[in-house]
Amino acid sequence: MGLAIGVDIGGGSIRASLFDESGKELKSLVSPTPENLNNESFLKILKDTIRPLVPEAKGIGVGSPGPLNNERGVLIASANMKGLENLPIKESLTKEFSLPVWYENDANCAALGEAYFGFYKEAESKLILTLGTGVGGGFVDKGILYSGYLGNGIEIGHTTAVIGGALCGCGVKGCVESYFSTRGFINRYMEKTNIKLNSAEEFFQLVFKKDSVAEEILHFGTLALAHAVRNAIHLLNPEAVVFVGGITKSYDLFGKTLESEIRSTIFPVLNGRLKIGVGGSLSGTLGAASLVFSKEKV
Ligand SMILES: [Zn+2]
Repeated sequence: MGLAIGVDIGGGSIRASLFDESGKELKSLVSPTPENLNNESFLKILKDTIRPLVPEAKGIGVGSPGPLNNERGVLIASANMKGLENLPIKESLTKEFSLPVWYENDANCAALGEAYFGFYKEAESKLILTLGTGVGGGFVDKGILYSGYLGNGIEIGHTTAVIGGALCGCGVKGCVESYFSTRGFINRYMEKTNIKLNSAEEFFQLVFKKDSVAEEILHFGTLALAHAVRNAIHLLNPEAVVFVGGITKSYDLFGKTLESEIRSTIFPVLNGRLKIGVGGSLSGTLGAASLVFSKEKV
């Protein structure tokens, strides 16, 4: 099957890695991205990061936060990289390197990587949720990623948990990720205490120390997430629900509540055969490289 390049475009850096078909990382390069960016300067950094890996590769998979158009391979805008607009990722890389290029939302890439290389790889269909700065999702059925029309499907973080609730980064009130995500925990804690936390780790430290405000925020957030998952299970009927992302490091503090709320609210007929758990901590680059491996199976 040959080697694949996976590229993970994040808020502060671009990482590109070369993988073999077993998911083993052979080489990896990282470039920080400066605060002030425009399309041109960004594309130069992107190409320079990927270039050393190209001679051995048969294709390039790229993942980034959205919104994007996966068919045209364009990053429409980025909340974390302000200067970028309608960035033609696929076209630029195809021209530069003469290799096939696929581009998807990073949560979809994470889902695909988990589906191919994670703990639940044997499950026929799986819903994968990325719990981090926000909440992303992906659905992989029989090895094929469901992207939605033009690649913005399964945005489970922006389904509504509370009508008219807390303001989300997307501009709408009451999204699930306003209640369960790094950003959500920090904002909810700030609202209640006027104390600014800097990370999910700090928040979970407070929960661990039985800070009652943090505990309450986590409890409500966990129920909000559980019901978003319940809704998705009833829509998609997956064989497995898999949680990945930085927040799963603290799964001990919320996993039991999350799983029991999901299991006690879905149709009993689904419950017996549904698997729920934490996935492997696979890299974003492996997820992106999975785009290359999976296209051969489609
Ligand atoms: Zn939202």
